[in-house]
Amino acid sequence: MRVLRSAGSGPALDRLKAIGRTRLATVPTPLLPAPGLADHLGTRARISIKADDCTGLGLGGNKVRKLEYELDPARLQGVSHLVTAGGPHSNHCRVTAAAAARLGLGCTLVVNGEPEDPGRGNARLHRLLGARIVTVGERGERGAAMEDEANRIAGAGGKALVVPIGASTARGAMGYVHAVMEMRDQIGSGNAPPWIFTSSSSGGTLGGLILGCAILDWRARLVAVSADEPAATIRETATGLAVAAARLPGREPDPQKDLSGADPGAGRGDMDLADRVLETADAVTVTDRFVGAGYGIPTPEGEEATRLFGARAGVILDPVYTAKAAAALVARLRDGTISAGDHAVFLHTGGHPALFR
Ligand SMILES: *Cc1c(COP(=O)(O)O)cnc(C)c1O
Repeated sequence: MRVLRSAGSGPALDRLKAIGRTRLATVPTPLLPAPGLADHLGTRARISIKADDCTGLGLGGNKVRKLEYELDPARLQGVSHLVTAGGPHSNHCRVTAAAAARLGLGCTLVVNGEPEDPGRGNARLHRLLGARIVTVGERGERGAAMEDEANRIAGAGGKALVVPIGASTARGAMGYVHAVMEMRDQIGSGNAPPWIFTSSSSGGTLGGLILGCAILDWRARLVAVSADEPAATIRETATGLAVAAARLPGREPDPQKDLSGADPGAGRGDMDLADRVLETADAVTVTDRFVGAGYGIPTPEGEEATRLFGARAGVILDPVYTAKAAAALVARLRDGTISAGDHAVFLHTGGHPALFR
C-alpha cells in the first residue's frame, strides 16, 4: 500500500484502499529507459518500458495484478479450488494455476481445443503448475464446463471459486489502478503526462488504466492496441469495467437495495469520479489496425517491432499481444504523432511462453 499512500489522497483513494487484495505480484515493476530504441528510430521522444512482464508469479504478465483483486481474501474464505478457462495456450490460465499453487488450492483449467504439442509453451506450464485440465471443443462450451467442475468439486465436499475468463472483471481491473499509481510515481507528477501504449483484448487492463488516470486526474494519453477484438468492442468493454470498478469501493453488500435496482454506492464523490472516468475513456485511442490476419497470427509489423525491441532495448516481446502493441508505438514514433519532448511508455503485458510453443 506504499504506492497508494505516496500517490495522493482523497475519497476515491481512501475507498480504493478498502478493497480486498491478495498480494501475488512483485511490484512496483521497473520503468526501464530505452534510449537505444529512440536513437535507432531517430526520434527525440523518450521511450520507457513499464515491465509488467516482471510481475513474477508463474512467469508474470498482466494477469497477476488482476488476480490480486479477483482473489480478494474475503472471496477465498472456505475456497478449496480455483476454476477458470481459456485457450490451450492461455496466459490467464497459467497465472491462475500458479496462484492456486501458491495459495495451496487445487486448480481446474477448462481449455477449448487441444494444443498442437502439450509439451510446449503455456500448455506445458499449465501441466507443470499442477492444474487439472478439462478440454472442451468450443469457446462457447467453457462457461457450462466451469459450472460442471464447480459442482463436481462441491459434490466432493470442496468449494470452487470460478475466475471469469481473463480475470477481466471490475475487481480485476483494480490491479491496473496500481500500475498507474506506480507509473505516476516513477515519472513524477511534475513532468508532462506520458503516452501509455498497451495491448488489449478483454479490456480489463485498459479499464484499470482508465480508472487509475481518472482517480489521479492524470492526463496520460492512453493508446490501446487490439490483439483480436474490434476497437469499438474494446472501448465499450473497458469503459464499462472502469465505471463498474469505480463503484466497487465503499459499496456495502445490501441485497435489499441491489434487488430494488438502486445503486448503494452512488454518492456525490462517485458522481465526480464517474464523470472523470467517462471523460478519460473518451480520450483513449483504441486501434484494431495492428491485428493483421487474426488473434495470434504474427504480422510483419509486429515481427519488425520484436526485432527492434530485442536488438535496441534488450526487451523480449511475445508474438500474440505485445509485438502488435509495439508495432503501433513504432508507427506513431515514425509518423511523428509522438514527437520531441514526448515520453512514450510501453506497458509490457507479458506473454513470453508464446515464443516457445
Ligand atoms: C491477457 C493479455 C493481454 C490483454 O489484456 P486484457 O486485460 O485482456 O485486455 C495483453 N497482453 C498479454 C500478454 C496478455 O496475456
